[in-house]
Amino acid sequence: MKNQIHEHLQDQIADVQHAAESWAPQHALTWAFERFGNSVAVSSAFGPEGMVLIEMASRVRKDFRLFTIDTEFLFPETYNLMDRIEEKYGIAIEKVYSELSPEEQESTHGAALWTRDPDLCCNLRKVEPLRRKLTELGAWITSIRRDQTSVRSSARRVEWDAKFGLVKINPIVDWTSKQVWRYIHDHDVPYNELHNQDYPSIGCTHCTRAVRPGEDPRAGRWPGFAKTECGLHIIEPVPTSPATDASKAAKFGS
Ligand code: SF4
Repeated sequence: MKNQIHEHLQDQIADVQHAAESWAPQHALTWAFERFGNSVAVSSAFGPEGMVLIEMASRVRKDFRLFTIDTEFLFPETYNLMDRIEEKYGIAIEKVYSELSPEEQESTHGAALWTRDPDLCCNLRKVEPLRRKLTELGAWITSIRRDQTSVRSSARRVEWDAKFGLVKINPIVDWTSKQVWRYIHDHDVPYNELHNQDYPSIGCTHCTRAVRPGEDPRAGRWPGFAKTECGLHIIEPVPTSPATDASKAAKFGS
C-alpha cells in the first residue's frame, strides 16, 4: 500500500518534471501554490538564495507560508533579518525547534556536541525538526542551487523527495550566485548583514566562520570537518509510517 501511494505520487511528478526544467522560477512558484494550496510552504535559512525566493514568492502569493528551522544557535544578524522579513512581507515565519533545548542537549549528549559530532548535532537540531514539520505538508519549496555542493548537483526543479516523502520544488535550481545577487540588488531585497563581512554562507554561530580570499564560498561552514551539508538536502530513501503515507495521499487527492 505504502509503495503504491508513493509510486502514484511519483508518477504525478514525473509528468511535469521534464517540462519544469524550462520553467522560470515564478512559473514554478505559481504551479506549486496552485497545485498544493496551503499544504506547500517555502523553507528558508535566509541566505541570499532564500531571500530571492521569498521576494519572488511574495509577488506570486502575498500570504505564502514560510518556515525556518531555528537551531537556537543562530547569529543575531539572522534573527534581525527574520524580524525585517516579517515586517516587509507582512507574514509570520513558522519557526521550528528541536525537541531538545540547548541545555537539554548538553545534559544528554555533553557540552559542545558540534565540536565532536556535528552530524548528530545537525540531526537533533535540524533534520528531525524538519522531518516533523514536513509531515504536515504535501510539498516544500527550497532555494537550493545545483552548483552549491556536489550533493545538490543532480537536483531537479520539481522532484520527489524520497527522504521525507513529499514533493520538493527548487525554483532557482539552475541559477548562479551572480544571478542571485543581481536579483537582490535589482529588487532591493533585504539580506543578512554578515554577507558584507565575508560570510557568504551562514549557519549556526558554532559552525560558521568568515572565508578568506580565494576560498570556496562554503569553506566557512563546519571548518575542520569534511562535512558540507547539514543533511536536509541529502538524497536517501527513508521509509515512512503507513499513517504518514495515508496523510500524504489525502493531501494529493489520491
Ligand atoms: S550547524 Fe553546528 S551547531 Fe548548528 S545544528 Fe549543525 S552541528 Fe549543531
